[in-house]
Amino acid sequence: MDIIVLKPGCTDDDIRHVVKRLESKGLKVHVSKGTERTIIGVIGDTSKISEDEENAIRAIEVVENVMRIIKPYKLASREFHKEDTVIDVNGKQIGGKQIQVIAGPCSVENRSILLHIAEKVKEAGATFLRGGAFKPRTSPYSFQGLGEEGLQILKEASQQTGLPVVTEVMDPRDVEIVSRYADILQIGARNMQNFRLLLEVGQTDKPVLLKRGLSGTIKEWLMAAEYIMSRGNHKVILCERGIRTFETATRNTLDLSAVPVLKKLTHLPVIVDPSHGVGKWDLVLPMARAAVAAGADGLMIEVHSNPEEALSDGEQSIKPDLFKQLIHECRRVAEAIGREL
Ligand code: PEP
Ligand code: MN
Repeated sequence: MDIIVLKPGCTDDDIRHVVKRLESKGLKVHVSKGTERTIIGVIGDTSKISEDEENAIRAIEVVENVMRIIKPYKLASREFHKEDTVIDVNGKQIGGKQIQVIAGPCSVENRSILLHIAEKVKEAGATFLRGGAFKPRTSPYSFQGLGEEGLQILKEASQQTGLPVVTEVMDPRDVEIVSRYADILQIGARNMQNFRLLLEVGQTDKPVLLKRGLSGTIKEWLMAAEYIMSRGNHKVILCERGIRTFETATRNTLDLSAVPVLKKLTHLPVIVDPSHGVGKWDLVLPMARAAVAAGADGLMIEVHSNPEEALSDGEQSIKPDLFKQLIHECRRVAEAIGREL
């Protein structure tokens, strides 16, 4: 049921006008006239009222407010799917008791560096390998990634370490090639609302790691997940990576409250990327601990053996030794809340 609140002092004609309008859409209504306010309850399955129709109802002069009880996202909603979704990737579960740790450099720079970092993160306890082959850079003059060569290097590192690979796809035209090499397709923050790309990955059978947009609200983010799911791919992992705020001390503001909020609203697994969230290497570990404490199902951490020489995001990349420490400390937090890492 949805609720429509009318303005004080509305006449019987006003009420009739709104009721007729709703009934013309095939909806049943219940009018409740109070001393101050008249409220119209819309009865039955109101999920078919689109946002455009909702806004048209808001435009009726006598309407003060429209309250939707049904969420605009359906497949992603906890109401429609009560149990947590657990996504299996090569025998590793995302969204279960075990917390997964995705680690690696921002970009795949060359074969020897990637193989070296992959070995290091594996040794420290990472469960997935990350690395960008197609990089969304603010400047067209910055390193853009190695493309297919980068994907081949990732595959080799994956075979060598046994770690499944998470890598970004930026363009609908690249979905096919990236799917050939990756175990999880990453949709970057800048593409959260690239709807053609979302629909394209929705047609694959690969799990999709959907990062939160730079200024994406939780509702917009879940609607983006809905796009992917609407094409039949229900394996969506949400990744909080910080949002734009007025604060300049950190690269972004890591919204850890999004984790428990999402746990209420959706059944999809939620992971946290503190590296992009804070943008400074020495802040990554405390925020990783906090993310686990907040209930994240996983972490994404940028690790580089020589951050000073990194081709992208060196400032926020931690060295393998610190990564080892991070795993150790996050494991203790995980155990304290009845989870494993
Ligand atoms: C990344 O993971 O390297 C990346 C570019 O992240 P984001 O899309 O969150 O900025
Ligand atoms: Mn990065």
